Amino acid sequence: LPVLAVVGRPNVGKSTLVNRIIGRREAVVEDKPGVTRDRVTYEAEWAGRRFKVVDTGGWEQDVLGIDASVAAQAEFAIEAADACLFVVDATVGATDTDEAVVRLLRRAGKPVVLAANKVDGQSGEADAATLWSLGLGEPFPVSSLHGRGTGDLLDEVLRKLPEAPEQRFGSAVGGPRRIALIGRPNVGKSSLLNKVANEDRVVVNELAGTTRDPVDELIELGGVTWKFVDTAGIRKKVHLQSGADYYASLRTAAAIEKAEVAVILIDTTDKISVQDQRIITMAVESGRAIVIAYNKWDELDEERRYYLEREIETEMQQVTWAPRVNVSAKTGRHMEKLVPAIETALAGWETRVPTGRLNAFLGEIVAANPHPIRGGKQPRILFGTQAGTKPPRFVLFASGFLEAGYRRFIERRLREEFGFDGTPIHISVRVRE
Ligand code: GDP
Repeated sequence: LPVLAVVGRPNVGKSTLVNRIIGRREAVVEDKPGVTRDRVTYEAEWAGRRFKVVDTGGWEQDVLGIDASVAAQAEFAIEAADACLFVVDATVGATDTDEAVVRLLRRAGKPVVLAANKVDGQSGEADAATLWSLGLGEPFPVSSLHGRGTGDLLDEVLRKLPEAPEQRFGSAVGGPRRIALIGRPNVGKSSLLNKVANEDRVVVNELAGTTRDPVDELIELGGVTWKFVDTAGIRKKVHLQSGADYYASLRTAAAIEKAEVAVILIDTTDKISVQDQRIITMAVESGRAIVIAYNKWDELDEERRYYLEREIETEMQQVTWAPRVNVSAKTGRHMEKLVPAIETALAGWETRVPTGRLNAFLGEIVAANPHPIRGGKQPRILFGTQAGTKPPRFVLFASGFLEAGYRRFIERRLREEFGFDGTPIHISVRVRE
């Protein structure tokens, strides 16, 4: 989906406006700014079109211009977006901080829609008009509190958002596959990127059928050109006093959104943490192909290795199906295994099982392992079909409710039979009486 970043200084009413846009499904207003909030993107729909809204509310406490590193972080959100909605308080007018945001927006070169907020009465119209001075074109007067003007604003937003950003990245026409390198800070993302970029770099200026986003890098590996998305977020290292987790998850969410496959780095010298798992969950829930790269393998001694394998067994259960590579970004160990793992994951992600084969297989496993009898009845799977790919989605029609354990069994058997390595698969069950 196309991504809209909502930016603006504190107290201009961003969160209220975000709530308006997403239809108040999420209560973001009560949140303390930034830092601890996990969710930073929301799905919205207007005039039949869906898009993602990234709430950059998190940087409001530190504020632009005061701390350069914070401003740099805000830039990531802007860079990762397809368009920006810049919110200004019309009752206050343009402040120095607003001007600083304008400079960020200019540098990013993304389409911008200017919202003049808090226009609740007639006089507000004139206040809104003064914001022409920001040089961003027409200010749209809105009252996010009362909803006034937000329809026109969203119409304009839709005009600025691309229809389907996927097309721009060229997957439909055989352009480079898109990889996101994700993982918590210091797992070695930038080291890995440098390793693959320095050794096998080809300078690709113009590749047929693609336009290049400046935050992405085209890198040739194993004779194939890949697009590493959102690398600006990896290369620009900034050290933050506060909000680091928030920005990291913002970047991660944006990168996953643009990618087809996520390479998730784990620092093997450190215990596998809740933060690692949260990142994995984001990738799985977004339905991306997944490869796990266990990094810093050069540092492992026998003892740590022993405990690491135990941790992998217990902490990595949600991605037991993901290809695994044990690498060192420092020494280059097993770098050559990365591409085959990525290719495996993408192949699984795109696998389509013909309906005939699927049903023959379902028939066999159901005959050999019928669902347990519940309340005197035995639910049966009547028919199945694969409704989609990327990731594979199955719909099973059954004569009764299928227990979670049985669904897991079906998933496991489907994986064994059809090889969905490296991809989440979705199974939904429809009950037919
Ligand atoms: P990022 O925050 O995920 O981009 O992590 P960096 O690439 O900046 O790496 C964090 C630290 O880990 C740096 O000091 C790197 O030199 C170190 N590092 C990264 N990869 C490896 C590796 O494979 N082995 C070892 N020993 N150190 C590594």
